[in-house]
Amino acid sequence: MAEHKNPGIDDVMDEAKTYIHAPESLALLEKAANYASEHHAGQFRRSGEPYIIHLTNVAYILAKMRCGPMTVAAGFLHDVIEDCGVSHEQLARDFSDEMADLVEAVTKVGTLEFKGKDDPEYQAANHRKIFIAMAKDVRVILVKLVDRLHNMRTLQYQSEASQKRIAMETLEVYAPIAHRLGISSIKNELEDLSFFYLNREEYYHIAKLVEAKKAERDEAVSRMISDISEMLKENNIEFRIFGRSKHLYSIYRKMVTKHKRFDEILDLLAIRIITKTELNCYEVLGYIHAAYKPIPGRLKDYIAVPKTNMYQSIHTTIIGEDAKIFEVQIRTEEMDAVAERGVAAHWRYKEGSKYDARAEQKEIENKLSWFKNFALYSEDDVNESASEYMATLQRDVFEANVYVMTPMGRVIDLPNGATPIDFAYRIHTDVGHTAVGAIVNNAMVPLNTELHTGDVVQIKTMKGTGPSEDWLKFVKTNQARNKIRRYLQLKESEKHEERVAEGEKALAEELRKRGADPKEYLDKKHIEPLYREFRVTNYTEFMYSLAVKSNSVSAVADRLTNQRHVPTEDEVLSRVLNKEEPRRTTKLGLVIPGIESMKMSIAHCCKPVYGDKIVGFITKADGVKVHRADCSNIIHIKNRKIPVEWDEGDHERLYDSVLIVNCYDRSFLLTDIVTLVNQCKVPMESVSANVNKDKITSTIKMSIRVHDLDQLENVISNLRKVESVITVKRSSQ
Ligand code: MN
Repeated sequence: MAEHKNPGIDDVMDEAKTYIHAPESLALLEKAANYASEHHAGQFRRSGEPYIIHLTNVAYILAKMRCGPMTVAAGFLHDVIEDCGVSHEQLARDFSDEMADLVEAVTKVGTLEFKGKDDPEYQAANHRKIFIAMAKDVRVILVKLVDRLHNMRTLQYQSEASQKRIAMETLEVYAPIAHRLGISSIKNELEDLSFFYLNREEYYHIAKLVEAKKAERDEAVSRMISDISEMLKENNIEFRIFGRSKHLYSIYRKMVTKHKRFDEILDLLAIRIITKTELNCYEVLGYIHAAYKPIPGRLKDYIAVPKTNMYQSIHTTIIGEDAKIFEVQIRTEEMDAVAERGVAAHWRYKEGSKYDARAEQKEIENKLSWFKNFALYSEDDVNESASEYMATLQRDVFEANVYVMTPMGRVIDLPNGATPIDFAYRIHTDVGHTAVGAIVNNAMVPLNTELHTGDVVQIKTMKGTGPSEDWLKFVKTNQARNKIRRYLQLKESEKHEERVAEGEKALAEELRKRGADPKEYLDKKHIEPLYREFRVTNYTEFMYSLAVKSNSVSAVADRLTNQRHVPTEDEVLSRVLNKEEPRRTTKLGLVIPGIESMKMSIAHCCKPVYGDKIVGFITKADGVKVHRADCSNIIHIKNRKIPVEWDEGDHERLYDSVLIVNCYDRSFLLTDIVTLVNQCKVPMESVSANVNKDKITSTIKMSIRVHDLDQLENVISNLRKVESVITVKRSSQ
């Protein structure tokens, strides 16, 4: 691994002066450096070095990346809140509100607790998302990435357990973010450092293989370089050319994922040509292909079609002397800067004009496909100007969820508008059931308070209390809503049992009053014949009706003890029919024309939702099952079908639906999909993803709940627009 010398504050200033000239900006850097030196005085790192060395390194790397003065200054200041107890207010007074916000955000992101791989809840993609959402500002991410880079460079001073944990987190969270932002220099170094700490054996193995052939390779590369140089000079093209080495982790990953031996990896001999204009790039390509045989299928034009992280270049693979294979990259200076420094290269720090963080942030986001991946709305939506459109998009992405923390730093993500009760049920059902108060950021708040990203939430509980029906009015998660409902239903059914006993008791007493022995009458033989007359279907219902007085105890006692008059069937029927009864609708929101109270349920195979064409199927033992009219399970059946209709009056209900999404596997895909469903305001019950046998595509199965077919179709059509989604289907197994 490369050795890095510790720069001093003067080195940072020298580096900054190469592109920052405004005196007030240089003064800001100077001030930040002194501020950090003062506040961290007497603090040391594990290496034994004074703490300021870490801060100087971070600022230096940021300056090397040509970051703006605020960002470089934040590099100096990024640990003063956490390690020196400097408050946001003080930092705002000493510098500016903007600086205080920046440093506070860096601190907050740093306190995220990344769980280990063995934790079943662990999902690296989720953590990357949370990281980005919490940072909110690209500058925060840059400082944090560089902070992590320097910590990785000095990881040897940590315990072995910490080394492994930090390296794993770097590989799974930080390196992909650097990649996403197109900062390949940081990404590569983070990967190689992580690789070293996670798998030292393989690291040394590959390093040795690379070293063994180094002389031979260097010679081949320099011969190729001089041949190409001569050719380009003859054609009067301005260029720089150099060999480059693959970083070790990328070789390792190729060997593992593509099952290749070291000597089968083609692009170990690599050359890069930097030229002036885009046109020059294609000219260079033309000359090279004219002189050397290209390998078919290896030409990639990322100039015409840039990668999603803004990367542009032409790649081709050619066969050189002695049948040696070379990968050649051709690009302009500007493209090269973007490839190495990604987002930071777009950081046009403009001298003189007032620095506008928001405008700059937006400019970068505009260029980043990250946000374009969320482009779910139709492109001919001309009502919105492009910038408004991006602003909406960003709001949707960042504000679709809130991320809050437990006092221990565990991150809990919740839908927008979620309350401490949602949080409590996410922690544990019992915490939800026994919640009596909430403390948010050290202040007691009402249980219906809306939570915000970054809030630290603590729940006060009390044994023996239970959820209140009022909670249903403000909770946002289905998890909380379902658990509260279930609890209340259980309470209700306990009450029901009590009522049944009450009814029994009342009837027994009434019988005793009449000098009859209850034991003689309270049995099936006597009670059952009365069901029809009293319009009940079973014993418990009967007793319950007595307790709630929908049937009279004395009337029943009369009938039991004195069977003077047994009403005829016609009498019973007319009594039933004359009683004006509200039209019964099932809870499913379904009706069978002309038939009341028939047991109906929704078929599990095709799960129709309100608005689907449906048909009923009369089962032998389980009433009517309602299928989609085109359900393959019943479409060929002729008998036992019965027409059913949706009940126009019942729109409150949500219907379960299962979607099968087939897609090309890529990182962030699942998060993108979950975010989208969230944006459609559709509750998601479960989601699972499986990579298919071909290792390229994966199948995502999700269970959602919708009001009707329109809403479902809206979700499906939006899902189809997500990048790399191939098909979206409703499940009907
Ligand atoms: Mn730090």
